[in-house]
Order: sequence, then structure tokens, then C-alpha cells
Amino acid sequence: MKNTTSFVSLPAITDFSAKKFASLQFAEADEIKKIQTKLFLSHLKFTLNNSPFYKKLYKDIKINLKQIKQLSDIKHLTLTQKSDLFLTKEFLCVDNKEIVDVCLTSATSGSMPTIISLTSNDLSRLAYNEELAFAMAGINDNDTMLICAAIDRCFMAGIAYFLGGVKLKARVLRSGSGSASQHWELIKLADATVIVGVPSLMYKIGQYAIDNNEAPAATHIKKLIAIGEPTKDENLNLLPIASELEKMWSAKIYSTYASSEIATTFCECSARRGGHLRPELNITEILDNDGNPVKDGEKGEVVVTPLGVTGMPLIRFKTGDISYLMNEKCSCGRTTKRIAPILGRKNQMLKYKGTTVFPNAILACLEGDQRFHNGYIEVKKNKDGTDHILLYAALCGEKHDTSWISEILRAKVRVVPEIKIIDKEKADKQVYQFDKKRKRMTFFDLR
Ligand SMILES: [Zn+2]
Repeated sequence: MKNTTSFVSLPAITDFSAKKFASLQFAEADEIKKIQTKLFLSHLKFTLNNSPFYKKLYKDIKINLKQIKQLSDIKHLTLTQKSDLFLTKEFLCVDNKEIVDVCLTSATSGSMPTIISLTSNDLSRLAYNEELAFAMAGINDNDTMLICAAIDRCFMAGIAYFLGGVKLKARVLRSGSGSASQHWELIKLADATVIVGVPSLMYKIGQYAIDNNEAPAATHIKKLIAIGEPTKDENLNLLPIASELEKMWSAKIYSTYASSEIATTFCECSARRGGHLRPELNITEILDNDGNPVKDGEKGEVVVTPLGVTGMPLIRFKTGDISYLMNEKCSCGRTTKRIAPILGRKNQMLKYKGTTVFPNAILACLEGDQRFHNGYIEVKKNKDGTDHILLYAALCGEKHDTSWISEILRAKVRVVPEIKIIDKEKADKQVYQFDKKRKRMTFFDLR
């Protein structure tokens, strides 16, 4: 049993009121830095005093933590890997009786889930995080939000969206993991104005309506909050699936980026030019392969230190996602940096004749094209160590000519994989064997 009396005071941000920090989004860089430094040092003190994992880590590597005085000193701290989280109990910073919610996340793909323990403070923090994220996309208390993310089975996303919507005083429809027809009926029945869900699911709902001679564009839906899958390429242009969704629903699509471990959402504002960082909720770094910070605009791995978490606080968590930061002032007036779309997973990066490419970038070139039905990518290792990329594509219509696919890929991603045409049923069966987060499965790594 842990001795609760040894805990130091909680991190500084325990009052998660939107009013307190909302103005920070528009503050000058110096002001943001000042507040963030205070929150960072408080987070560090709390974590290092209470987390068995970090206590042991820093005892072993003998970093003089007294030297950590400002934000830039974060580079001296050790990175936390997804696989470290298997030692769940070692990360717990409070007594078990303080834990009110348990979330599950898969630590590495295909492995057993890891527990993330949340205090009531952490739930309030999640609610605040989503409240401001939704508000950033222009959602308010006049909206009715259809949440198509599971709120049960220990998922964090669904409960976070629900709590955020409630805190915003929107009207929330917990549609969860219902079928396309159930979501569609609810949209009509309750006059939903916003859908929160993965883009492929929004497409399925719309397509269901169209197949039943109804019109998604004629509903009250005005905003689509896209989770879990990209909607833009690295130059912030809408991917074909996203353009298709906007047309289908006559609505605007907004991207958000989040994960259970980082417990923060980066949502796009009205300008829709990347998700604004949340300085009061986390420190976001972009690191190269050697763990060094890159300049704004350069691509690297997203590493996040979530601030204000009390159940299982983390330091410099390696998300495995690749993106870059933008520092130019946003037209919405916010001064915070923005994060570009997630370009792919670090461990999914493919090497092709000196070029690096992500599987989702290849598929994104084709999705939305009338001739392309569905597809997925498989990668194997060649004898010389390079990657052999196979695109399995199901096409619409009778013609099975693939030259147009090669042309598009050569022009857009400079990669032409081996292409195998398969029938629609096989493609759908493979792609829609939803993983636990109900995302499509479009990449199979056999390296
Ligand atoms: Zn903005």
C-alpha cells in the first residue's frame, strides 16, 4: 500500500474552467511561455515525487533535476515509450481510491491493452480539453452533437467527447458504436447539427442515406468533427474523402488529433489550418530520429508532455505519430502554434527508392476517385533491406486498367507500388475488419 501522506500538492491546473485559460490562446508568446513554464515545473515536481516509474528512472540515470528551470530544459528529460506503459502500476501517482475511471489503450499495435487510470481531476481536465476544442471549431450551446465514438468498453475518446459536449452545454447524442442506419435515424430524429466520428464512418452513414433515397445534405448537419483518420495532406489540402464528405453533408469538416495517453485534443479553428496547440494542457515537441528537436515546419515524431494529469502523469511521451508544427499567426487571431495533419505512424514509414512515404498518403491519393472502390497496403521486406510495397485495389466498373493509379501515385507521392486488383468483397472484408477504435484497417506490415 502506498503512503498517501507522501504526495505533494497537485499540479497547478486543477481548476479547469474555460474562462481561466481561454484567453491564453490569444496571449503573446512571452505570456504563454511564462504560464506554461509554471505548469511544467509543477507537473514535474508532482510526477517525480509520486511516480514510482520516474522516481526510479531518474535515480538510475542521475540527471540533476534541480537544473530543470525552464521549458527548454525539457530536452534533458528522458523520453517515455509506449511499451513503458505496460508497467501500468509504476505510473500511478495517487492512491487507488482516488481513481474513478479506468481507460484501456493498446500500448503497441496488436498487443494487450494497457490501463490508464484517471482521477476525478483527470476527468474534469478531459472535459475542459474537449469543451475548448469543440468551441474552437465554433460549436456552441445551440448545437446538437452526434457522438459516434464508443463511450463504453473503457474507451477514453467517447467519454471525453461526451463530457466536453456537456460542459459546453451542447445537446449530446451518445450514438456510440451504432450502425450506419441507427446513426442516420438519430440525426433526423433529434436534428443533429454536428457529427463527431471517423471520416469513413461519416461516409458510411451518408451513403446509407443516399442508398435509401434520402439526402444527408438536407439534414441540419453543419459541422463534421473528424477523429482518428486524416482529412488533409501535408500541405493542408483536403483529401478526396474529406471533400466528398463536405459535399455529401453540405457541411464543413474539422480535424482533431488526440490519443488516450496524451489526454489532449488539438482541434482546428474556423481557419481550418491545423490544430491549435494547448499550452495549458501540454508541451508538444517534434523530434528527429535521434531525439533532437526540429525547427517549426520540419517533420518529426510528435512527443507530448500532458500537463495537469494526476492519475498517471507522463513526461515526454513518444506518440509514434509524424507531423510538424506551424508558427505563423492564424487568421482566427489565436497566437498558439498549430500542428499539421498527422502524416503517418513512425513505424509505418515506408522506404521507396530513397523516398519515404506513409501508407495512408498512398491510399489518400485514390480515395474519392470515382474509379477506386477500396483498398489496402501490404509491405514486405526485400532481400536488400528495402520495402516492397503492394497495393491491393478494388476498382469500380468492369475495366481493370491500373495505369491511371500509377500515374496519380507517381505525380502525388512519387511512389509506384506493385498493384494487385482484387474484388470489392475481398477488399471490404479486409478493410472493414474494424480494429478496436473502429478505424479502417488499411495497412498490413509484414516486414
Ligand atoms: Zn486558428
